[in-house]
Amino acid sequence: MIFSRKKEELLEPYSTEQCGLCNTTKRRNFIQGDFVFKLTGKCTSCNQGQMMITKIYGVVK
Ligand SMILES: [Zn+2]
Repeated sequence: MIFSRKKEELLEPYSTEQCGLCNTTKRRNFIQGDFVFKLTGKCTSCNQGQMMITKIYGVVK
């Protein structure tokens, strides 16, 4: 018997955003053009702080 199961480890990229004011963190799918320290918009939690990408990483699917 031949086991031909291929283990393809595809990495799904994620970006973590953090609010500079209330420190809320949010994980979302990586969008092309994302980079660490990029400001991505207003925080939806406190409505005052700016969300900034703090981490980009890959997760095995
Ligand atoms: Zn906030």
